[in-house]
Amino acid sequence: MSQYKIGTKVIHSGQPADSVTGAVITPISLSTTFLQKSPGVPIADYDYSRSGNPTREAFEKCIADCENGKYGLAFASGLATLATITQGLSAGDEVVSVDDVYGGTRRYFTRVAANFNIKFTFVDMGTLDQIKNAVTEKTKFVWLETPTNPLLKVADIKAIAEFVHSKGSILIVDNTFMSPYFQNPLDLGADVVMHSATKYINGHSDVVMGCLATNSEDLYNKYKFLQNSCGGVPSPFDCFLAMRGIKTLKVRMEAHQKNAFALCEFLGKHPKVDRIIYPGLPSHPQHELCKRQMHGFGGMVVVFLKGGEKQSRTLLENLKIFALAESLGGVESLISIPSFMTHMSVPPAVRAELGITDSLVRISAGIEDIEDLIADLTFALDKVEL
Ligand SMILES: *Cc1c(COP(=O)(O)O)cnc(C)c1O
Repeated sequence: MSQYKIGTKVIHSGQPADSVTGAVITPISLSTTFLQKSPGVPIADYDYSRSGNPTREAFEKCIADCENGKYGLAFASGLATLATITQGLSAGDEVVSVDDVYGGTRRYFTRVAANFNIKFTFVDMGTLDQIKNAVTEKTKFVWLETPTNPLLKVADIKAIAEFVHSKGSILIVDNTFMSPYFQNPLDLGADVVMHSATKYINGHSDVVMGCLATNSEDLYNKYKFLQNSCGGVPSPFDCFLAMRGIKTLKVRMEAHQKNAFALCEFLGKHPKVDRIIYPGLPSHPQHELCKRQMHGFGGMVVVFLKGGEKQSRTLLENLKIFALAESLGGVESLISIPSFMTHMSVPPAVRAELGITDSLVRISAGIEDIEDLIADLTFALDKVEL
């Protein structure tokens, strides 16, 4: 399906009509085991569902195609994807990660994988300065998120990939925030792209799942071995739901982005708002880079309210449509204060250093009618006292 555009791929890639029944939609294949015609000779390509499952494989092909990769793999969550990749390392190996990384990723690196004597270094990747000093001959991969969570800092994937390759290492990009619709890191030189499919890919806040895509046969074989050996696979039902969800990725991402722009327009002028960060605004420090490496700007908006914890709590407690909840990328608008929620596990000193203050409010723009979202914010902002 690689000749098609993404709005077609999300609907058709990996999902041909069932050759036996003609069913247009990929069936949910729940069987854990598969018949063999002779010992060790399966009838089809499957023997045991952890090793390979038809519904999962359909999703894996779809995500590979959507990221312009040859190979795809699915996992039980975004973090299971990260954990499986990391289990390919050995004691003494090193990893360099972007500093403003997803809270759960930092927790896994520093509090789980570090116990196995793997060294993690966190650096700002806005320029190459810090990464140049951090990568050594022991660096097995560089982990990049762009735009980052929650500050929406952007890094130059192409420049970083070239540098990382010159050092004989590989670049892995967490593309959760942009989805394959707005950014394709493999096209920019990344070796692996991964997603928390829990977010935009599934898009309906009802599946926890992860995935990766790559063009490297070696890396694919390595991660497929680890997927089977570590066992962090998603259920066939979740794969079905994620495939159902991804079919509307194009229309959802366009709608998320449209609402995000409208929220910026409204909030940017509001007297109780200090400033906003959105990659689509010329005020974003790396707006030119965003235009160059992304096909759009996504649905995540960061708002710094005037005041502090009291003001941001008042805003969030008075909203009716925006759900006060963690996560992002669902059809419903979500709002959160990372310092009390997603980034609680980041030490306060690190939070302060990164600029994750108590007045930083993160919005995942949903696809509701924008008039209703703005009315909801207007009402809640009226309750905020400076
Ligand atoms: C949510 C998220 C993850 C973790 O994914 P889970 O599916 O929750 O395990 C990783 N990276 C980013 C950017 C995320 O938003």
